[in-house]
Amino acid sequence: MVTVHCARCGRPEAPALPRQPLPGKLGAEVRERACLDCWNEWQKMEVMVINELRLNFMDPAAQETLTRHMKEFLFPGEAKPGGESPLTPLK
Ligand SMILES: [Zn+2]
Repeated sequence: MVTVHCARCGRPEAPALPRQPLPGKLGAEVRERACLDCWNEWQKMEVMVINELRLNFMDPAAQETLTRHMKEFLFPGEAKPGGESPLTPLK
């Protein structure tokens, strides 16, 4: 079984995602740095985020908002103090 060192739960040999969950660079990063269990947790959280923020995917900004939440969830604590927070609203 392929394993990853998961950025969220910190397990050094956590089960990897069977395939890239999203297209492009972001999907590759998620697959390299998040484990299957944390990804499954995000899938549940994603539904809550979409409902809570009433994201409308006709609006391109909604996808960006969701992506920021996903990064914050899967790669916590990577927003540097004084740097750009993933959850900073777009100007
Ligand atoms: Zn994990």
